[in-house]
Amino acid sequence: SSTTPEMDEKLKERIAKHPCYSEEAHHHYARMHVAVAPACNIQCNYCNRKYDCANESRPGVVSELLTPEEAAHKVLVIAGKIPQMTVLGVAGPGDPLANPEKTFRTFELIADKAPDIKLCLSTNGLMLPEYIDRIKQLNIDHVTITLNTIDPEIGAQIYAWVHYKRKRYKGVEGAKILLEKQLEGLQALKEADILCKVNSVMIPGINDHHLVEVNKMIRENGAFLHNIMPLISAPEHGTHFGLTGQRGPTGKELKEVQDNCSGNMKMMRHCRQCRADAVGLLGEDRSQEFTKEKFLEMAPEYNL
Ligand code: SF4
Ligand code: SF4
Repeated sequence: SSTTPEMDEKLKERIAKHPCYSEEAHHHYARMHVAVAPACNIQCNYCNRKYDCANESRPGVVSELLTPEEAAHKVLVIAGKIPQMTVLGVAGPGDPLANPEKTFRTFELIADKAPDIKLCLSTNGLMLPEYIDRIKQLNIDHVTITLNTIDPEIGAQIYAWVHYKRKRYKGVEGAKILLEKQLEGLQALKEADILCKVNSVMIPGINDHHLVEVNKMIRENGAFLHNIMPLISAPEHGTHFGLTGQRGPTGKELKEVQDNCSGNMKMMRHCRQCRADAVGLLGEDRSQEFTKEKFLEMAPEYNL
């Protein structure tokens, strides 16, 4: 079922028009991602840098990178054409908070020109404590943190390195810094009353059995939705950075872990692992109707 009894009315109202946060909403409301954030500050072993960030997006897809001005132009064009468009997310193709100027400029422009659109951000969490004040100022409604483990030893198998404040940390040391910042970020979101969803990439043999513990921790720390996503590992996507030959979970394995977690927390089961430039309802990707070449031509009056 899609709502837990304890999910209060107010929360329901807050997510009613968010296609990812509310399963009912995803049939009626649309979201878009704009790809304005190319850089990343960590190296996940399952990432292939040629493609979109695998933490929120569909691996094996190359999104069209835009400037903040182009992104705002695109949002205005699409909001005019797709009336169900309620949410704008920045989710890549790298980590949005590793590109703070581009990401926040995009949000500022959209808040200014299309104030009805809700803003959404996803991040690996490393820079979340640093930018929590700007996130609050901009009224960003929803934040997704990708949190794959709460154990730095496991983290060392998932992350090759973490680049924090001009220094690169490897192995357990890097994984510890990332985890510390993710926990601080989670806490800060809770204090700011910003809705937080957690994504976890399920990697068989590495964090699969551990995800129940991750689920418990995030539940206790205020996240309201957990999205366990399968590692997508297909030869045509090229090799992962450090997990060569790693398989993804079967549908059955994924469901089992989701079932084991769902105690009293809502699990997201309708995630489509969208592209960093996705447009439309969750099941219908219309990104190719709104390529840069096309949207620039459609409504030149929105040129910023
Ligand atoms: Fe790749 Fe990980 Fe960075 Fe996403 S957060 S772009 S998956 S290295
Ligand atoms: Fe929603 Fe999942 Fe797509 Fe993100 S990747 S927009 S959470 S369906």
